[in-house]
Amino acid sequence: MATARKMPEAAVRPGLRPRRVPQRTCVGCGSVTAKRQLVRIVRGLDGEVRVDPTGKAAGRGAYLCANSPCWDAALKKKRLERSLNVTISPAGLEVLTHYAEDLPVEPAA
Ligand SMILES: [Zn+2]
Repeated sequence: MATARKMPEAAVRPGLRPRRVPQRTCVGCGSVTAKRQLVRIVRGLDGEVRVDPTGKAAGRGAYLCANSPCWDAALKKKRLERSLNVTISPAGLEVLTHYAEDLPVEPAA
């Protein structure tokens, strides 16, 4: 179900105030951050949970800061599972944990 429609011309007309930056809540720390600084996790239509680098994969999404403490909290305290309303398979958990290992401990400035 791709909804890749372009914004109407009026929304990008110069002279208008800039559009508000879309924001999302990190399920790890609960802070609200610009969506593009967060990593999207998606529960795909197949029920598998995976990282969604494009931010456009179909399915229910959740967002996490790009730093490992948030991932730790989200995975170990089951916040991600609760947010996606799914039980993450051991394989899926391993992928997410592995992904988190490559993230910085501190949020990127
Ligand atoms: Zn966070």
